Amino acid sequence: MALPGTSSGLHIAHIAAEMAPVAKVMMIQGLIQTEVGGLADVISGLGKALQKKGHLVEIILPKYDCMQVDQVSNLRVLDVLVQSYFEGNMFNNKIWTGTVEGLPVYFIEPQHPAMFFSRAQYYGEHDDFKRFSYFSRAALELLYQSGKKVDIIHCHDWQTAFVAPLYWDVYANLGFNSARICFTCHNFEYQGTAPARDLAWCGLDVEHLDRPDRMRDNSHGRINAVKGAVVYSNIVTTVSPTYALEVRSEGGRGLQDTLKVHSRKFLGILNGIDTDTWNPSTDRYLKVQYNAKDLQGKAANKAALREQLNLASAYPSQPLVGCITRLVAQKGVHLIRHAIYKTAELGGQFVLLGSSPVPEIQREFEGIADHFQNNNNIRLILKYDDALSHCIYAASDMFIVPSIFEPCGLTQMIAMRYGSVPIVRKTGGLNDSVFDFDDETIPMEVRNGFTFVKADEQGLSSAMERAFNCYTRKPEVWKQLVQKDMTIDFSWDTSASQYEDIYQKAVARARAVA
Ligand code: ADP
Repeated sequence: MALPGTSSGLHIAHIAAEMAPVAKVMMIQGLIQTEVGGLADVISGLGKALQKKGHLVEIILPKYDCMQVDQVSNLRVLDVLVQSYFEGNMFNNKIWTGTVEGLPVYFIEPQHPAMFFSRAQYYGEHDDFKRFSYFSRAALELLYQSGKKVDIIHCHDWQTAFVAPLYWDVYANLGFNSARICFTCHNFEYQGTAPARDLAWCGLDVEHLDRPDRMRDNSHGRINAVKGAVVYSNIVTTVSPTYALEVRSEGGRGLQDTLKVHSRKFLGILNGIDTDTWNPSTDRYLKVQYNAKDLQGKAANKAALREQLNLASAYPSQPLVGCITRLVAQKGVHLIRHAIYKTAELGGQFVLLGSSPVPEIQREFEGIADHFQNNNNIRLILKYDDALSHCIYAASDMFIVPSIFEPCGLTQMIAMRYGSVPIVRKTGGLNDSVFDFDDETIPMEVRNGFTFVKADEQGLSSAMERAFNCYTRKPEVWKQLVQKDMTIDFSWDTSASQYEDIYQKAVARARAVA
């Protein structure tokens, strides 16, 4: 299992429940149904960028039955059995290995009668707390038994938050203590709570941890996995600087006081996007590839999408507004609905690509789609469709992201790379990546979109009106804005440098203590 390390680089192990593209899109009955979330992109994007910087990066994932094995090269079972503790017994785990996007990945397949990861879906099972506390323990056991000298163990979200207390309370006592733990919370909505006794399943000491300054939830008697990781990790991050501020107050969903106590080790680092996948000059899904210097190609993609979706095409310069999203409350569904009507009122075209796990929301948007079915300026496509998403980014002139809260958000960054000017609410990562074109208090060179503050229809309407005005009345100014947006660097390189820096500081502190 030993892999070549680098002399100066760090050895970083990510333990996660998702990774793009192998464990991102969920397959149900052979149909692509829904994607899991931004975490999947972070693991591969950050992993690849850190690897490029000369670090040894390894990923540990569950071996799901529904993952896309065709995305793993050289997938094979290792000739080792790792035994791990759960509910008073030891269980064997089959360890698979392979390469995903050039990164070495280990997949854990528990030989447990509950078949934890053979459920045809990633999350949403009645025993998720059990499944992922099992996985966290088995992942640490794999690292421990392999004898690897890992510098950083990086765990993500509540599913692998158990790693932090397990490492310091169980494994450090066994002499496995060379690593420092980094925990990233991608969304504080999901904290992983359960009755305190359930912590014992994976071998954690309930009496020791069920305390207000450790793992007991701040508002009820349960224990809270994310709180445990905040308390026990050496570094805690979230996915944008503004969200890191927001979660210190209401956005923390009960964890604000804990985050304040631990604020010295807590910071926000804006995610990047995968600039190989999202590159209009090489994108094979597009009718015509293009770049900032040649916007003809963008116009050709707009014409192609109009034809494909049967939209009016008499006026090439009629503005096209795009929106690609999960339709959930977080994304501001009432504002998305308003943007559709507002675009119709302003004489533009609107294309929504979205699907909802919430039946009422899905039904509501099906109703809107029906309402506009004979209108050749509005299209709602209510499904998950990766290929179509590329075409919409390329074809649209403007892109709407009116989120109520947004830890980071990727779509505004992808849109800019494809020359679609974002119209966003100033929250979380949107506030760190989109700067209002009319805001004279910030330098002109960083102004790249249109923003609004209040989550109401007036705010969104006024930002849309300003964007439409600029588009129709000042085409030259608009073109320069599009070109500027396309050349902004949203690659993982900058974020990876920040992670590298905090990893290195944590490792240096550990070495100084040793
Ligand atoms: P979240 O992770 O909260 O859903 P992000 O903005 O971080 O939101 O990431 C959304 C990602 O999912 C983007 O890459 C976006 O293109 C993609 N996406 C969302 N909905 C769809 C859809 N219906 N079809 C295709 N891609 C989608």
